[in-house]
Amino acid sequence: MQPITQSHRLRGVRYDVRGPILQEAERLERAGHRILKLNIGNPAPFGFDAPPEIVEAIRAALPHAQGYSASQGIPEAREAVARRYVEEGIADVGPDDVFIGNGVSEMISLVLQALVSPGDEILVPAPDYPLWTAQVTLSGGDAVHYPCDEANGWVPDLARIEELITPRTRGIVLINPNNPTGAVYPAELVRGFAALAERHGLVLLADEIYERILYDGAVHEHAAKHVSETLCLTFSGLSKAQRIAGFRSGWVVASGNRARAADFLEGLTLLANMRMCANVPAQYAIPVALAPEWRDSGIGELCAPGGRLREQRDTAHRLLTAIPGVSCALPGGAMYLFPKLDPEVYPIVDDQAFVIDLLRATRVLVTNGRGFNLPTPDHLRFVSLPEVGVLSEAIGRIAEFLEGVRNG
Ligand code: PLP
Repeated sequence: MQPITQSHRLRGVRYDVRGPILQEAERLERAGHRILKLNIGNPAPFGFDAPPEIVEAIRAALPHAQGYSASQGIPEAREAVARRYVEEGIADVGPDDVFIGNGVSEMISLVLQALVSPGDEILVPAPDYPLWTAQVTLSGGDAVHYPCDEANGWVPDLARIEELITPRTRGIVLINPNNPTGAVYPAELVRGFAALAERHGLVLLADEIYERILYDGAVHEHAAKHVSETLCLTFSGLSKAQRIAGFRSGWVVASGNRARAADFLEGLTLLANMRMCANVPAQYAIPVALAPEWRDSGIGELCAPGGRLREQRDTAHRLLTAIPGVSCALPGGAMYLFPKLDPEVYPIVDDQAFVIDLLRATRVLVTNGRGFNLPTPDHLRFVSLPEVGVLSEAIGRIAEFLEGVRNG
């Protein structure tokens, strides 16, 4: 009998955040080792509880959330999302422009399946949140990576992005605040992205899931505020600031020139219909989470001086940059650090193998930079979610490991 093989669409699809490195960590755990996990941006296991009002809204919804909902989502959730964006300066969006999904992840998948034909190109940042590249590839398209400049706080150069546009380019992905770098883009750059998309008639795909996780007075600018001639799709949800990643609650909002995008939106609606609807109880969390009185969801305090997220970011940054040959831009937002290991000091060839060696030696789990489509094998990604004591222990062990590497 023929072997049962995976579809050709999966050729070239990678998602290292949950790949072989995690499998090795799980193997070590089964063998009885305690692993310090600094690999996934999942707030709940690190003791970040959701605001109780949100959990209560889901609990209270259970009796009347037993059936499917409309495919785009329950009206209360779509209205709350639309209202909030209008209040934040995105003109002219209404509930019909909102699609609720099982997290942003599902909406990235549906949007790219609806948009991308074989051979189409989507501009994606390098480094990126790797689901973007994976889903472009799975949809038959080519992810064309535009570089983000580490020397300039990981901000990309718009002129360089423009050079990468070809007749096959359909869209441009903007991840702001960024995973994995933590960069928060200045408003002027966001306006520049919008202008670029408009000039070339590209769909602007704005992943803003970390929009409320901001440090040191950083201000987040919605890309959609600056788009009118082309289509802007804004992605966000409750996994990060509201800390309910496990309930799977996110959305995408279409704004700008929807008339020009009518055919695409029909395709997106078809795909949304085909998967029935998002998890209904979790949709009831959205109006509560976005009501003006809860909108901050306690995240402002966690990110302010003295707040847990802010302290952890500072500790991790201080300890990492104290290691010889390690540099790291200070993240302005999100929950990650993306340090560079100077290749002169640490001549890493295969960063996945390096991270597995590091894991076996230190029992600390981080992710390799190439897992985020960075071209060079000289970065690691850390989550800054563990408590200061755990971060200190983990980075201390890594510092010791790197000392061994330096000493040959
Ligand atoms: N976009 C970015 C930039 C992310 O970092 C993540 C998760 O880490 C997601 C989207 C997916 O989020 P969700 O839990 O809403 O699917």
